[in-house]
Amino acid sequence: MARPLDPNRLVRPLVRRLHAYTPGEQPRTGGLVKLNTNENPYPPSPRVLRAIRAATDWRLRLYPSPTAERLREKLARRHGCAVENVIVGNGSDELLALAVRCFVEPADAVASTGAKAAARATVQYFTPSYSLYPVLADAHGAVRREVPLEADFGLPEPAVGRGPARLEAGAALTLVTTPNAPSGRGYATGALDRLCGAMRGVVVLDEAYVDFADEHAMGLALKHPHVLVARTFSKAYSLCFQRVGYFVGHPVLIGALHKIRDSYNVNGLGQVAAEATLEDPEYYRRTQQRVVATRERLARELAGLGFRVAPSQTNFLWMEPPGPPAEQWRDRLRERRMVVRWFSGTGLNRHLRVTVGTDGEADRFLRAVRGILRERRREDGATERKGGK
Ligand SMILES: *Cc1c(COP(=O)(O)O)cnc(C)c1O
Repeated sequence: MARPLDPNRLVRPLVRRLHAYTPGEQPRTGGLVKLNTNENPYPPSPRVLRAIRAATDWRLRLYPSPTAERLREKLARRHGCAVENVIVGNGSDELLALAVRCFVEPADAVASTGAKAAARATVQYFTPSYSLYPVLADAHGAVRREVPLEADFGLPEPAVGRGPARLEAGAALTLVTTPNAPSGRGYATGALDRLCGAMRGVVVLDEAYVDFADEHAMGLALKHPHVLVARTFSKAYSLCFQRVGYFVGHPVLIGALHKIRDSYNVNGLGQVAAEATLEDPEYYRRTQQRVVATRERLARELAGLGFRVAPSQTNFLWMEPPGPPAEQWRDRLRERRMVVRWFSGTGLNRHLRVTVGTDGEADRFLRAVRGILRERRREDGATERKGGK
């Protein structure tokens, strides 16, 4: 009799060993203040909601534009480039995955043929940065190369060179989160230009949060043939739900990515929503400025309460709370219905990442923080009276 079939054996060993990306929690119960996944606290522009409603009719039976043609035309106009410089994805996450598949050889395809060959199979990125990068590299069977940022999350100087503390010039793909996540630190375009200039492989500047920053590096995608800039409608344009992101870069790289994407990779309502978003820049400038103003106030007030808050060029704050471990802070905030992000990794686990919400949410967060600090003082007092520590 045939042995029962073990479905585990049908899965590639590489995939069996893979650790999937851990997304922030999307709580199903209401009444929580959600400051854990860097969503925008403000709704999409009324124009966007109208456009989506107007498109929701019998036409849902039709395929959308396979190339997101109209959206790409609008994006090209916005960035002063040609349609051939633009590819749209199902979120920028999809495009990051495509970049790995497009520019990086799987390690086993180039095994044991020297350092140059290994570089062709290498995905490198700074640590800490976006925690999706290692997952994408592993899923492709690529060589993963992690280069530590400076203690203040600055770029190493020079960023490219020899040794484990520098980017390797020949790596097939380098992913740079700029401004950085989870620290919020921004980088000067001049420094990024020098970094790109020293690289020989493809560089993706992942500008997911750039609309909350003082400067952007879109010009580098149009200046260097090996540089791609990644943008998303998720964070600064309140469109996480619709999954729309894009790359800008040299037509040869963009054309190669087009070859390997799904034929209808961007859903129709996502295209409609993103197009309408670009029609209302004034609305988004206002809401982005409001987030930045709230960010600066929240940072100031938290510093006054004993938090060490890193300067931020994004819509979140990276902070080391006073007193108990950050993980405990997360739990106590959760008891007060505030959801924030805590990362377990060494070098990260003493911090919290808190999304900047509305002013009202920032006030609720500060009230919760003050409540926790008071509670702690009471607990410490009780321990002392009992003759403890
Ligand atoms: C959120 C985020 C993305 C992904 O955005 P989507 O377009 O929603 O896929 C990419 N990079 C960084 C650094 C992000 O924080």
